[in-house]
Amino acid sequence: MFKHSLFYRYVAPYTGRLLFNVLLRVLSALFTLALTIAIAPLLALLFNTGQAESAISGGGLAQDGIALLEHWVRISVVRNGQYMTLFYVVLSLLAAYFLKNFCAYMGLYLFIPIRNQMVARLRDDMFHKFMILPLSFYAKEQKGDLISRISNNTQDVDTQMLNQIQQVMVDVATFIFLIAALFFISTPLTVCILILLPLIGTLTSLVSRSLKRKSKRLQDTLGRISSQVTESLEGMKTIRSYNTTSYALKKFKKENEMFFSTNTKVLQRVYASHPLNEILGTSAVAVILIIGGYFIIADQSLRPEAFITYLVTMIQMLPTTKNIMTAYFTYQSGKGSWMRIKEVLRADEVIMEKKNAKEIHEIRNGINFENVCFTYGKKPTLKNINLELPKGRFIALVGPSGGGKSTIINLIPRFFDPVSGQVLFDGKNIADYRIDNIRALSSLVSQDTILFNDSIYNNILLGNPQASREEVIRAAKMADAHDFIMASPDGYDTLVGDSGTKLSGGQRQRLSIARALVKNAPVLLLDEATSALDTEAESRIMKAVQQAGKESGQTIVSVAHRLSSIRHADEIIVIEEGEIAGRGTHEELCQNNKLYRKLCHMQNLDNRSSVPNPGQNPSR
Ligand code: ADP
Repeated sequence: MFKHSLFYRYVAPYTGRLLFNVLLRVLSALFTLALTIAIAPLLALLFNTGQAESAISGGGLAQDGIALLEHWVRISVVRNGQYMTLFYVVLSLLAAYFLKNFCAYMGLYLFIPIRNQMVARLRDDMFHKFMILPLSFYAKEQKGDLISRISNNTQDVDTQMLNQIQQVMVDVATFIFLIAALFFISTPLTVCILILLPLIGTLTSLVSRSLKRKSKRLQDTLGRISSQVTESLEGMKTIRSYNTTSYALKKFKKENEMFFSTNTKVLQRVYASHPLNEILGTSAVAVILIIGGYFIIADQSLRPEAFITYLVTMIQMLPTTKNIMTAYFTYQSGKGSWMRIKEVLRADEVIMEKKNAKEIHEIRNGINFENVCFTYGKKPTLKNINLELPKGRFIALVGPSGGGKSTIINLIPRFFDPVSGQVLFDGKNIADYRIDNIRALSSLVSQDTILFNDSIYNNILLGNPQASREEVIRAAKMADAHDFIMASPDGYDTLVGDSGTKLSGGQRQRLSIARALVKNAPVLLLDEATSALDTEAESRIMKAVQQAGKESGQTIVSVAHRLSSIRHADEIIVIEEGEIAGRGTHEELCQNNKLYRKLCHMQNLDNRSSVPNPGQNPSR
């Protein structure tokens, strides 16, 4: 229940250090209070050569303290003379000011690392969550919005919440101290003030509640804006080529206007808190004057001098109460951001590892799908799939787009779990194994070639950071990438640019394949891995991959649209609308599977032609 409470995870671990920090800040506040109360009577006494009565000499805590100070001043005047005493008093005041500022600065100085650690921890948690959330989460959420959550929203939580927490701790501590002083001076007057406080509190919370709602809406809009910018920057070529700039502008303008109007309302409300506080504060002072006056004039239970000390203490208290209220407002406006962060931290991990998950480091016999059903939403994507993927075999999945081929591939590294049925490694459900073990057993080349802004060498090495340079080069050669790499300006050290933009689609795909090959996992999953290559390069790579697979006993599962790339597969499985519509070798399917025959016919590929038609290059 507390797992994602801001206080429990991000503040509580620093309680000791925070309290020390608060202590320093309270000490500073105490010095301020002492100075405010003591200066006037001390100087008055001093300039009256120690004979005059102080301005304040009634009962109460502060006055007792002052009486003691006055006593020392009188003695000093007699012993050291008036001028030297003035010198000592000024020196003591300077020392007190120095201590006040020193404590205040040390408090802040020590708080900075605590605060930064809290934020760093929050960002770490979010990024960790991003890394473990299932792929289905990213299908629902927008990239830019997630970026906004980890950047803008954590920043807001830092300034509007974490910073306020310590400020409030300081203010509350000072407030309690001041209230105690007030009680000491006049209990009945303080009781009256305490009755007023809840009234002020209720008014404040009414405004702050609406602030919290608006602030969440504001952050959501900011997230959408950020998403749109990311999307537009990434899709700039498409936007320009389809002349949809005005559409993108219009969409952006709409969100931007929404942000503008919500932000205006939020700020108007935030700024309302200041005058509201001031009005409430002044009203409180007015009420105190009237009540205090009553105690002095009618009741005569309070002397005017004591009342002045009381008011001085009260004036000290006003900024504290004001700070607490402002902090409360700011805290509430930060809650919108916190809620957006919590949505990520609380997102369902879906793919969970069992508590006593077993280890697995090899596949001896193969992979099986047993009555596997799967859906992304309401419509079933896979219906009762039974498959055998024996070790060392090359299995191809073919069929019309949207049939569920990629989904089958994605179930093997456990990117998704079947709704019913199971995926088995050597006869055992993969859900019983450690997720990292399962993923280490396969390497996937997906349709989207993801390269990082690094050198070609490091991008390939990502598949297996322990690989030697020779292994990297061998993988690059198998993926038909070595030649173009050597022709690049810095060879293997050439930088690929943001997401590999400096390379062609085909070159990116070759590097992705090389990366998967260098991993040398027992299972190689190719999901339209060669779609951007010409038929010749494709057949060269597939031959090399198949040959290497045979030698090392690697199981290869390949989704292919272009049938020429998989015609030599050990088994071809035809998938249509989430079901297996046929299986066999190319020759067998050509003879007895209508759908496969149709696909071959469309691609000018038939049983007799062993050389594919190079002109055909259908895209998905
Ligand atoms: P194929 O690889 O055969 O083209 P897919 O496995 O990619 O088919 O998709 C099968 C069906 O599942 C399609 O109807 C597709 O729209 C849907 N689908 C694929 N991925 C997702 C996803 N992440 N969220 C929702 N639906 C999806």
